[in-house]
Amino acid sequence: MAHKHDYDLAIIGGGAAGLTAASGAAGLGVKTLLIEKEEKLGGDCLHYGCVPSKTLIHSAKALHTIKNADKYGLPRVEPGPVDYSLVRQRIQDVISTIQKHDSQERFCRLGARVEFGTASFVDEHCVLMDGQKISAAKWLIAAGSSPEAPAIPGLKKVPYITNREIFYLDSLPESMIVLGGGPVAVEMAQAFTRLGAKVTVIQRSPQILSKEDQDMAYELLQILQGEGIDFYLGAKITGVRESGLQKKVFFKQTNGDEQVVTADTILVAMGRTPNTAKLCLENAGVESGSRGIQVDTRLRTSQKHIFAAGDITGDYQFTHAAGYEGGIVLANAVFRLPRKTDYTLMPWCTYTDPELAGVGMNEKRAALAGIDCSVWTEEFSGNDRSLAMGNTSGKIKMILDKKEKVIGIQILGPGAGELINEWVAVLNGQVKLSTLASAVHPYPTLGEINKRVAGSYLAPKIFSERVKKGLKFFFSLKGRACG
Ligand SMILES: Cc1cc2nc3c(=O)[nH]c(=O)nc-3n(C[C@H](O)[C@H](O)[C@H](O)COP(=O)(O)OP(=O)(O)OC[C@H]3O[C@@H](n4cnc5c(N)ncnc54)[C@H](O)[C@@H]3O)c2cc1C
Repeated sequence: MAHKHDYDLAIIGGGAAGLTAASGAAGLGVKTLLIEKEEKLGGDCLHYGCVPSKTLIHSAKALHTIKNADKYGLPRVEPGPVDYSLVRQRIQDVISTIQKHDSQERFCRLGARVEFGTASFVDEHCVLMDGQKISAAKWLIAAGSSPEAPAIPGLKKVPYITNREIFYLDSLPESMIVLGGGPVAVEMAQAFTRLGAKVTVIQRSPQILSKEDQDMAYELLQILQGEGIDFYLGAKITGVRESGLQKKVFFKQTNGDEQVVTADTILVAMGRTPNTAKLCLENAGVESGSRGIQVDTRLRTSQKHIFAAGDITGDYQFTHAAGYEGGIVLANAVFRLPRKTDYTLMPWCTYTDPELAGVGMNEKRAALAGIDCSVWTEEFSGNDRSLAMGNTSGKIKMILDKKEKVIGIQILGPGAGELINEWVAVLNGQVKLSTLASAVHPYPTLGEINKRVAGSYLAPKIFSERVKKGLKFFFSLKGRACG
């Protein structure tokens, strides 16, 4: 593949997308180089994203359970204040354990060379990395994304934190204003509230998790409000100012009222910017926009030998999406198979408590696509295991198109991120609803809700008047015994 080039395939970015492609390519005997600008491999997910956030969320959940011991018939407990340095240490320990899978040594054993430095293109086959010129026949740009710095008057002059700093703080903030209402914002708002901070969320759209269906987002909002988080939705932030050790956020509410909120910490979680700035893409003739590098369905950029995957392409900013895309690049770049991306069944989850997970279409997306759909629901208040756990909130929504094919599942409830996996298998395997409804699930489990919702759709067909009449006719049944 390489001929005149140093490498067959060179990858910029040692995160989920880059690591997947690097391990696969090296394992196949492709002369592979992986370039990472940080000191360690793993990318945002391992160091500033999924892993630290889920570890923090678990600590916060443990404390929440302890504080609510009486809800479970246990003696009331008054735990002391949280020492954030210990939480931070636990986060670091989990990262270090996982880091071993993403070590330079492991990739070297697989056959990939790892170089640490910042790469920028010189031409369509070469990059410059710390003064060193490196060429490759094919390139994968998997340089990820960074927290967006919104153009809010005064924000530049006020110290604020993002996902880069929040897991590495020295102490727990007493109060925090979260700017944004997406997954990162609501996950962190709940975790820090549970750890003991007073949290206020200010969000420009009128709904938290604006891509989710309104009913699901609203039920979650009420739960979060119940835990003590203040929300200002539909708010237009007009300025930010520092006042001693406090920070003030000024905003206009939907009714035009001016409002100000004060806290010692501001967390900015208002979206992501693709890491294109230092790549000098113009030298390679790679086209990009404000949302990221433009790619076709085979993840080829405007230069057919340069691929892009993961957050830098802008669309599905999840670790599992980045890994999936790394695999698509491998098929196209190494096997030269015209494998295309298909996001129809890309699942996702917001790890609040309860979690909100989905796969396929929700009602909002179906409406946007002009799809007529019917919706079947089951409440967690009707699930025995959920009740045993003390949870009565949340539901599952099954969305069917006109041909009665399942086009999406949404779950708000305990362990929704795990529960959605059964649907990932059902939908990918094109399993019939009748198969799911008749499959024996262990009792009592949360997963029974999956079987139940499938059954709720089938029940009216099975227990119809027509079926009853038929049975009566053929087997001389006598009908109701009561009432
Ligand atoms: C707080 C938070 C929580 C999250 N939680 C989840 C979750 O629970 N589940 C989930 O699926 N997703 C989650 N995400 C999203 C997930 O982290 C990203 O989708 C994922 O990391 C994207 O992988 P990537 O490979 O595209 O980019 P990254 O993981 O960001 O990797 C890109 C790498 O490229 C390097 N790089 C950049 N420019 C250069 C350059 N010029 N030269 C060399 N190297 C360069 C960067 O240093 C980085 O290591 C979360 C994100 C955040 C911020």
